[in-house]
Amino acid sequence: MTADGVLLASSNPHKLEEVTAILSPLGIAVTGLDPQNLPPEPVEDADTFEGNARLKAIGYAKATGQRCMADDSGLEVDALGGKPGIHSARYAGIGETRDERDAANNNKLMRCMADVPDGQRAARFVCCMCLADPDGTIIAEARGVFEGTIARTPRGEHGFGYDPLLLLPEGISSAELPPEEKNIRSHRAEATRSLATLLAH
Ligand code: IMP
Repeated sequence: MTADGVLLASSNPHKLEEVTAILSPLGIAVTGLDPQNLPPEPVEDADTFEGNARLKAIGYAKATGQRCMADDSGLEVDALGGKPGIHSARYAGIGETRDERDAANNNKLMRCMADVPDGQRAARFVCCMCLADPDGTIIAEARGVFEGTIARTPRGEHGFGYDPLLLLPEGISSAELPPEEKNIRSHRAEATRSLATLLAH
């Protein structure tokens, strides 16, 4: 990390785009991992978002020699006992590309929720962020949530992952929110902003 920037250790381009949009108005520059020189991906074998964010932040900070911020996030659906949770990225278990996996995950979620009545479809995105020093010391951790309900059909073109299926209280999906508004209200925005004062120096 430089005086005014941070390395976001993520291979997900959508997360990099969102975190950059959240932090750049605060004067904090965000860089992603160098695609030409990717460090080995830490194994995410913790059973919580917090644990996996720690594994990624510490693993990438040690591997790059830089202070690193890492995000572990996903969707918790009450009617499914909190699933897909930490398994959100590979819920359906199929798909070569990120877009294929997202489409398969959304189809599986719609199938699993088909018989769940309207009043019982509460869900939320959760984001845990961890900031770690190159020696593996955790500097700070933060959690953000974005509450909604699961829609019966996908709506909207923005965002990624399950955005088209998370219906917000005002009746539009997270994928129908303009990106600048998602980046003010989302789980990722809440967690990222909590770390912002530490990132500015
Ligand atoms: P991770 O990269 O292991 O943290 O997995 C995150 C997964 O959770 C993504 O692949 C999405 O399926 C889901 N997810 C996390 N944040 C969001 C979001 O902001 N919108 C939609 N889906 C999300």
